[in-house]
Amino acid sequence: MKFSKFGQKFTRKTGILQLMDDLGNALAGSEPVLMLGGGNPARLPEVNAAYERVMRSLLDSQAAVESVGNYSTPQGDAGLIDALADFLRQEYGWHITRDNIALTNGSQNAFFYLFNLFGGAFEGGDKKILLPLAPEYVGYADAHIDGQHFLSVPPQMEDVQHEGQDGFFKYRVDFETLEHLPEWDTGEIGAICCSRPTNPTGNVLTDEEMARLDALAQRHGIPLIVDNAYGMPFPSIIHTDATLTWHDNMILCFSLSKIGLPGVRTGIVVASAEVVRAISSMNAVINLAPTRFGAAIATPMLRDGSLKQLSQHVIRPFYRKQAAFAANCLKREFAGYPLKIHRPEGAIFLWLWFDGLPVSSQELYEQLKAEGTLIIPGEHFFVGMDTGSLRHARECIRMSIAQDEATLRDGIATIGRVVRGLYDAA
Ligand code: PLP
Repeated sequence: MKFSKFGQKFTRKTGILQLMDDLGNALAGSEPVLMLGGGNPARLPEVNAAYERVMRSLLDSQAAVESVGNYSTPQGDAGLIDALADFLRQEYGWHITRDNIALTNGSQNAFFYLFNLFGGAFEGGDKKILLPLAPEYVGYADAHIDGQHFLSVPPQMEDVQHEGQDGFFKYRVDFETLEHLPEWDTGEIGAICCSRPTNPTGNVLTDEEMARLDALAQRHGIPLIVDNAYGMPFPSIIHTDATLTWHDNMILCFSLSKIGLPGVRTGIVVASAEVVRAISSMNAVINLAPTRFGAAIATPMLRDGSLKQLSQHVIRPFYRKQAAFAANCLKREFAGYPLKIHRPEGAIFLWLWFDGLPVSSQELYEQLKAEGTLIIPGEHFFVGMDTGSLRHARECIRMSIAQDEATLRDGIATIGRVVRGLYDAA
């Protein structure tokens, strides 16, 4: 069978396909796998119990059948949109109405829309999405309907301490390079986008960095897209003092996935009315309307404050504890070896840098997979960058910290054994 160019592009073996396949196969297979790959959130009993309570009450009140029995408008479930507008006005004082919010089938779906709205072929030439700092979320990489239209800048790296300990580093935006890119003069940049906290590194761009990106976007008349999949106000997996701002040159993307509901595929876009209308139009063509069951669960939990409460008092502390546990295991396994960990400031991953790693991280991934431990190789995350001469890109891996302590401990022990062996043999 012959596929179109579109078909060929979207059926290639992409980084995100490998990641989602590994995740699904590990969950479905009979062989025990230490799953430190994937982006599944942790299953937390207190959080699950809250969802069960809400689902029961939706069933009792007929609201469940009502929500799955009718399409919403292409903009999305009106109940959730109104609850979100009230919540965001109250929480942050933003001037926001229902015209500023659209729902999508997961935020991945929103990024497909946004990257194709602001990147790709324009009259007068192609435009790119600028990622101010790579490594960035691998799920962005293949979102354009034709080709890849990303541009990114290698980060500055700084040795830092974490909770009084050495052995950590932090990426910072290289503004000198960013603000003087030749693509500004040629009008080739269509939007700026960053995840905050960042998948894969757990980096949280500082308020100063965000303000400078915001100013840069405004100066050039393009939007700043901020991916809040792990950020405030839910799931709020963020351990630094960061503030969330919005005005109508910014596009904020939220998701119900990392609060523990990835299966309901619900993404939220907060933007100017013009962008919200564009998202709604794309929803109509591609999905008719976004799914409603996640909206039915989230609406009462936004209204009664339980989503915020669970995020701040259960989900965030859980991942903070996991990060500390995993970092301690890693430090024990790699005493005397050149491992540096990106400072865990948020999200559900640790980003490990093995300086001078004798094999590529892709090869390390294969070796670890053969030993029953799954991680994600680092090079896929350097979206929009030619990593040919960037050795650092092939020396990093991402590991999830969403699993229980035994899985983390055993998975890290495998990583330790295999990587120490590679250094010792070099
Ligand atoms: N953005 C980031 C940074 C992510 O890590 C993910 C999922 O892992 C997504 C967006 C997409 O999530 P979803 O489509 O489940 O909302």
